[in-house]
Amino acid sequence: MILKIDRLPVELPVPENPSPNDAAAVQELLGGKFGEMSTLMNYTFQSFNFRGRTRLRPFYDLICSIGGEEYGHIELVTYTINMLLTGTTKRGTRPETTPLENATDARNTKHFIASGQTALPFDSMGQPWTGNEVFSSGNLKLDLLHNFFLECGARANKMRVYEMVSDPTAREMVGYLLVRGGVHIVAYARALERLTGVEVSKLVPVPDRSNKACPETQKYESQGVHRRLYTFSEEDYRKAGLVFNGPHPEDGQPLEVVFGAPAGSPAPDLEEEPQLNAPGADNIDPQMFKDIAKKMGVSV
Ligand code: MN
Ligand code: MN
Repeated sequence: MILKIDRLPVELPVPENPSPNDAAAVQELLGGKFGEMSTLMNYTFQSFNFRGRTRLRPFYDLICSIGGEEYGHIELVTYTINMLLTGTTKRGTRPETTPLENATDARNTKHFIASGQTALPFDSMGQPWTGNEVFSSGNLKLDLLHNFFLECGARANKMRVYEMVSDPTAREMVGYLLVRGGVHIVAYARALERLTGVEVSKLVPVPDRSNKACPETQKYESQGVHRRLYTFSEEDYRKAGLVFNGPHPEDGQPLEVVFGAPAGSPAPDLEEEPQLNAPGADNIDPQMFKDIAKKMGVSV
């Protein structure tokens, strides 16, 4: 089961230049082959499908912990796309003024036709994410090797999107996720080391460039975010630390496990886009819920 927290992992700055084409590029990090939909669903299915977990509990706990985190990464990338799309068409309620005219020049017109100027689970070319991206072989060594590769591929894609999109909203998101993805790379490398004795962390970093090349990563690294694994549960998955321990392969600082989730930040309230009738519901009486809440003795 999953418990939900109505917060984002980090605070995203408001875009300086909202741009549908920047949003389209960022979609790769959501619904691309190496995007957050893929990491979430790979670790989720591998954890549900894990056989022999009594004997191999620390590996199970590690995959569950990282899977839990990826849910919040989907949220963070989605909000980035939504913020980059907000306000990019003419606001209003008169269709004859062609308020969505700009959208015909956008790389992905589905953002304006199929959604309320918001993200959908597709890649930067509009191809939908599918379950074909899930690898869950049932063989622990093979699944961990796949996950190490997946995180390295995700890292490469993030660095390239960073080089395409200069808006601070996108760069803050990419900076944070480079740091967190770095933790997952170390975690899967360490898991393969515990399982086989092969020193996989000697491969790190893949690609070769350090996260430090992106300035947004530095504040997170100085806070120790690059060496902390969260379990996303107060009570469970406590044996993840039997795999995730020892020195960080890049700076030698100690790896640590945190039982729970990062404090996070309130999710931004997305503005209305009346020309898309998003959200619509124009006639709802604001007093209605207040009256019901009063009768139920609930404060709103
Ligand atoms: Mn992720
Ligand atoms: Mn990851």
